[in-house]
Formats: sequence, C-alpha cells, structure tokens
Amino acid sequence: MLASSGHRLGAEMARLLPAAIRHIGDRYGGDASGIWTDGSSGAAVARRFLAFDGVGPKIANMAVNILIRDFGIRLTAPMPDIAVDTHVLRVFERLGLLQLRARELNPEWPGELDWPAWHLGNRWCHTGRPPECGVCCMRSVCPKHGVLPDSTAGS
Ligand code: SF4
Repeated sequence: MLASSGHRLGAEMARLLPAAIRHIGDRYGGDASGIWTDGSSGAAVARRFLAFDGVGPKIANMAVNILIRDFGIRLTAPMPDIAVDTHVLRVFERLGLLQLRARELNPEWPGELDWPAWHLGNRWCHTGRPPECGVCCMRSVCPKHGVLPDSTAGS
C-alpha cells in the first residue's frame, strides 16, 4: 500500500517501515519509548535514531526536536542539532546566519531553531517564487542576502 501510495518515497518507505518495526522489536522490546528513555541526552536519542536503516543526521535531529517540542519529552544536554533541510538552509542564508552561528545563538538547544526557520521558509521565504519580504516577520532585521530588490512579493 505504501509502495503504491503515489508518494515519491513510497517504495522506499515500504521497505524501511518493516525494518524500523523489527529494529524497535529487537532493540527496545517493541516499546519505541525506549529510544528516549528517562535521563537520555538529546544527542544520545539522535544517535539511536541514526541506527534505523534509512535515517540520516537530518531526520535523526528532526525526530528528536519534534519529540521535545511537540511531545514534551524531557531530555538532557547535549541537545539535538539543527536539522538542515532546504527551507532551513535557504532562510539561514537569506538571514545571513551560518549554521555554526545559529548554534552559538542557542547552544542549549540548537535544534530549537529548526521549526522557526522552517516556518519562515514555508510561510514567507519561498523558493521557486519570490519571497514575501514586505510581510515577513523578519523584514526589519533580515539583510535579505541573495534576494534581488525587484524579486520580492508583498513589499
Ligand atoms: S525578510 Fe525576506 S529574505 Fe528575509 S526571511 Fe523574510 S522573506 Fe526571507
């Protein structure tokens, strides 16, 4: 069903999902919450996600950031890193933020910057069509690196 879902990664997901369920069974006795067991650091949980077939650093960090942000899972330092995807990378570049600088800004939890950057990219700082700098919440501080003056919408 996954393979024929039409999703661009459907066939791969159909292969990886059973492998992930087997991994949870073998490593965590069938209880996925063992991945983020009490007292774990964010980095340790990210490393545990990396042990899943098909999971790379971006997905591992993203999964941990979601656990903390959306599910209230409490983890200890070191916390997960920024999960850089195309939205995050584009917004960081236009804001003049290097990934390393972003880590300096929020060393307690660098990955906390993921969602705001992703949201900016999704809501205003588009790719494939002009960024909406005129209505973007970062307009007063953003240097708009790489954005041509006549290429913005909503200005
Ligand atoms: S002000 Fe423009 S370039 Fe800067 S983050 Fe917003 S949409 Fe992107």
